[in-house]
Amino acid sequence: MLHLLSLKALRERLQKREVSSVELTKHFIDRIAKFSDLNAFISVDEEGALASAEDADKSLNKNQSGNLTGIPIAHKDIFCTKRLRTTCGSKMLAGFTAPYDATVVQRLANAGCVTIGKTNMDEFAMGSSNETSFFGNVKNPWQTSRVPGGSSGGSAASVAARLIPAATGTDTGGSIRQPAAFCGLTGLKPSYGRVSRYGMIAFASSLDQGGPLTRSAEDSAIMFNAMGGFDPKDSTSIERPIPSVNELLDLDLRGLRLGLPTEFFDSSVDTAVLGSVREALQILEKRGAQLVDVSLPNSAAGIPCYYVIAPAEASSNLSRFDGVRFGHRSEQADSLLDLYECSRAEGFGEEVKRRILIGTYVLSAGYYDAYYLKAQKIRRVISDDFTKAFEKCDVIVGPTTPSTAFKIGEKTQDPVSMYLNDIFTNTVNLAGLPSLSMPVGLDGSGLPIGMQLIGRFMDETSLIGTAHQFQLETDWHERCPEDFA
Ligand code: GLN
Repeated sequence: MLHLLSLKALRERLQKREVSSVELTKHFIDRIAKFSDLNAFISVDEEGALASAEDADKSLNKNQSGNLTGIPIAHKDIFCTKRLRTTCGSKMLAGFTAPYDATVVQRLANAGCVTIGKTNMDEFAMGSSNETSFFGNVKNPWQTSRVPGGSSGGSAASVAARLIPAATGTDTGGSIRQPAAFCGLTGLKPSYGRVSRYGMIAFASSLDQGGPLTRSAEDSAIMFNAMGGFDPKDSTSIERPIPSVNELLDLDLRGLRLGLPTEFFDSSVDTAVLGSVREALQILEKRGAQLVDVSLPNSAAGIPCYYVIAPAEASSNLSRFDGVRFGHRSEQADSLLDLYECSRAEGFGEEVKRRILIGTYVLSAGYYDAYYLKAQKIRRVISDDFTKAFEKCDVIVGPTTPSTAFKIGEKTQDPVSMYLNDIFTNTVNLAGLPSLSMPVGLDGSGLPIGMQLIGRFMDETSLIGTAHQFQLETDWHERCPEDFA
């Protein structure tokens, strides 16, 4: 039963001392072991978790506790941790333990969270299905023949299966929102600069952003409030405070203008997905929101633009893995150049190599202007589309993904069809805007459907608030996959 409780309900139980943090931590550790077939975790830190649970219990006994004191969480294995290895889902970092904690890890620990472990993910966060992980694929708890989405697939699967009450993720082109949609969760990608990237292994630095994967908008507000905010260690961090949990949740929908981009409601989207999104919009309309038509005319350029910029930045970021300073080092090499080449050939998987090749190509002399520079210009045009749309509305809405969770193996042979999963999400990263996916229904075979809300820069409040108002009236966010209740 404990695993079905929200963060707020857990806090109440803990503060009334009806349950101890140690009991709670053991409960979730047992569940992680029981459902290890999902392959949602890469590392579990039983000893460390129990030690911090004991500390949390001491604070709770002294009535010195906050929103999250004593509550177990898990981190995507892209966030550096001192106690546990940080693999980023790669053989390259399979043996790497960071000398410091990421800011997100530290902030959540300061808020009293108990870190139980690190979740599985696509290698270096490159993927949409969690099939590129060196540690094997993750299964979707709703149907274990399906993918949980990616790249934060381990975090999403574990929150959906109630193996952990909340987890962190990162989103470069959709990796919080798409797995949230596939697993029936609420996933928030904050505005670029809201959540510190310090200690978050870089994929594409101008797009990467950390955020929470939770069951409800309320839980999302609690997590976002604790993990976000200015960090002098991240030069792109924004010097503005995160609203309080109540400020994030209290929203009057009356008069809120929801913009429906024509480009998001086209025939390429599954009818079940469109149907549930439209039903959700009706509910919001009944509560006073106003629906208006908008257009994001350059949406179709999003995928090509993203697949120039993200690999370009990745090829540069990943050049640090050379087998010398840290990470995998080949035993085969007999010269320095050989060492670089063999270490990288052995340490990186196929998708990561594909991105490095694309990225190096688009940045090379002679192609830079034709590809990289052009993509930067298109990025601006895409961003301008959003600015124009926000003259007519306050929040943009649409499906998070064109379909529900697909079968394991279904798209692995066709990278482009895999990339197209992010068609509605990655333009948001290119523009640096906040965005949230929330569950709005199930399709004919019982798989979750997600709806995406996109906000103005820094306006997470309208997204979390809208989702919260919706969730006060519906119970999609409380649905649990059958075998995990
Ligand atoms: N699926 C996209 C990619 O593979 C986005 C991944 C992400 O957001 N980390 O690049």
